[in-house]
Amino acid sequence: MPDTSATEEEVKNRFATEYTEVELICPRCHAQWSPPVARFVNIETHPMAKEGILRKSMHRARCPSCKAYELEIDQIFDYYDPDEKLVLQFRPAWEFKAGGGEEMYWRRLEALIEKYSEDDVRVDVVFGFDDMIAKHLGGEEAVAASQERAVQERAEGKAPGSIAVEQAAAARAEKDSGDRAG
Ligand SMILES: [Zn+2]
Repeated sequence: MPDTSATEEEVKNRFATEYTEVELICPRCHAQWSPPVARFVNIETHPMAKEGILRKSMHRARCPSCKAYELEIDQIFDYYDPDEKLVLQFRPAWEFKAGGGEEMYWRRLEALIEKYSEDDVRVDVVFGFDDMIAKHLGGEEAVAASQERAVQERAEGKAPGSIAVEQAAAARAEKDSGDRAG
């Protein structure tokens, strides 16, 4: 029997959520801080990231010192949904306009197709959270459902995104028991 475990392990690592840090300096109080940002998001293991996108709270940083300065971090990351066999490359919205619109899209898409040419996934490039949500994440309906979960989380004193994490865990447990039964 051929040993395929190394390859499976490689694939798993390639599609694992990965973080990095960015250095920020507050223009108001000059405090320096390094918030973590995602380079790769696997929403099967990190469903809270999808909530962060739907609520547009992902990659938003507030100065920990003066708390008066808030900014959106222009972080490029790949988003992976194993159920949908989908990889989205997230890029900042301004890049689309600055880079020549459609032409920029097709150039980035070609590079992304090349990057995942060995994998059984569909790929697309999105510019900004609005574009990503409208094209791939279920649009306004999904945003409204996520906002409802946010209200429920606040009412129950739960951490942001925790309901989606609970639901994903329950769905996985159900799938596992189904696999065992079958
Ligand atoms: Zn500050």
